[in-house]
Amino acid sequence: MLKLHFLNVGHGDCCILEFPEKVAMVDINRNKNPDDETMKELIRASNPENARDIRGELEAGAIDKKTALEKANYTIPVQDPLKFLEKNNIKSIFRFISTHPHMDHLHGLGELDKNMEISNFWALKNKFGANKSLEKPNRADDWSTYRKYRDHTTESDKEDEQSNTVIRPMDKSIGEDYTTDGIKILAPTPELLETAEQDGSANIMSYVLLVNYGPHKIVLGGDAEKETWQYILEQYGDLIKDVTVLKSAHHGRNSGYHEPAMQEMQPQYTIVSVGAKLDPRLDATKEYTEYTENLLTTRWQGNVTIECHENGDVTCSTQFDY
Ligand SMILES: [Zn+2]
Repeated sequence: MLKLHFLNVGHGDCCILEFPEKVAMVDINRNKNPDDETMKELIRASNPENARDIRGELEAGAIDKKTALEKANYTIPVQDPLKFLEKNNIKSIFRFISTHPHMDHLHGLGELDKNMEISNFWALKNKFGANKSLEKPNRADDWSTYRKYRDHTTESDKEDEQSNTVIRPMDKSIGEDYTTDGIKILAPTPELLETAEQDGSANIMSYVLLVNYGPHKIVLGGDAEKETWQYILEQYGDLIKDVTVLKSAHHGRNSGYHEPAMQEMQPQYTIVSVGAKLDPRLDATKEYTEYTENLLTTRWQGNVTIECHENGDVTCSTQFDY
């Protein structure tokens, strides 16, 4: 059985794949509380009548974020990925895949690296610097840990005798390191990486992965946007037909939604690791529901776990019903 966990990490992503004998993790985000924009959205949606008052108290510093959420009757806590690993008795990560260098996908990496053995780290070489992501401070150890892997060379490998390996596979790369786990890289290509750097948009270089497990197909969309989906559709339209699980791209915003790709994928389950929408018009939830049987969001369901069985069965459980 392959167990997929989509953690409720607020504005960010963290997906844990429990294979029968090893664990992979795609991105990490670790904060105690939702960011300011998400707070506004949660309060407004959970308690519209009193939203103004609660926000007023919060902004005046009379109450903290936790109390504000309680007052709004929103009771779904943000998940700390490290605590989740501990609770589930996961002691080492076989592979950590960094989809792209945005901080909402890297927060907590420093602590993770200190606490866990990561055998196999995926980070494409790129020229991006640390970005600011929704008021979260750029914690230096997260970024420097990322750079340790990203800028890692064979020479420094020898010097510091690191036991872990860094790999940088792209679409059409050849190697057995990941194919044995049924992972097929749909994107990026060297060309998409170059476009990302030229345009200063790291989302364009985001990994998009297809995991094949028994009869199941799982597509992890990272923060991919239009040009990436276009490429995938042209190259791999057949491969992405009828998927079991899709992790929607770019936190369920319009920018990551691609209708022609959804028409092919028709996912049984679509998981949205919800981030701040900033504007309700950016939300693609409605569009997704046209092509998916079940749409689950971390914001309203908390952590979502999907079990893919080799015989084709699939079961889904969520931390909260909403
Ligand atoms: Zn993101």
